[in-house]
Amino acid sequence: MSAFEPQIVSSDLDDIIAAVRQLQQDGGKLPSERDLAEHLNVKRHQLRKALELLRQSGDLKPARARRAPTALPRYGEELVRVTNPIEVLELRLLMEPGLARLASLRASSFETARIIDAATTPENASSGAVDFAFHSAIVAAARNHLAAEFYKMLRQVGVDARVKIARTAAPTCPKRIAERDGEHRLIAEAISKRDPEAAEAAMRAHLLSVQRRITERSNAGAFAA
Ligand SMILES: [Zn+2]
Repeated sequence: MSAFEPQIVSSDLDDIIAAVRQLQQDGGKLPSERDLAEHLNVKRHQLRKALELLRQSGDLKPARARRAPTALPRYGEELVRVTNPIEVLELRLLMEPGLARLASLRASSFETARIIDAATTPENASSGAVDFAFHSAIVAAARNHLAAEFYKMLRQVGVDARVKIARTAAPTCPKRIAERDGEHRLIAEAISKRDPEAAEAAMRAHLLSVQRRITERSNAGAFAA
């Protein structure tokens, strides 16, 4: 503000406009609205009116956007809008058997123990959370960071797409959870035996069984993975 001579103008719009014009001629670039209002000793709303009139007459450039538009599109919402749980599972079927194969070749003994542990749902545990922990442990053991991030996003989109269709709680049917755990244990066993063929096949069989359940139901929101 030191570039400007302090001055006091009346609140009359014409005076404000004249003062702003004078400042433009003297200094070119105008200070921020707040500084300008302070400098001219006028109320912000009066200044705003004057600036608006100056813009309308073309004497002032349009106000700059407060923030530059964000460079990254919001993939999450967009993905949920265009997809559904059946597509999510289709993609899981393409990815996860291969990741189970990699896990059987790359898992540390610690990771293998974690996979075996997550294959059995403890009593009163959320079956959805246990399922996610099991599959995530396998993806982590595949040691591909990009795949791990992609998988996280895929599952999140799966949950959101499911919620979009029907808000349902995680599956609680003990029979289905026992079946599911059985399928998980076959995968875990193959990984701990370092058998890539068996790990891949067991994962495919598990996801196909999930897929059957989804397509059997007209309500795509209620299924156990
Ligand atoms: Zn599963």
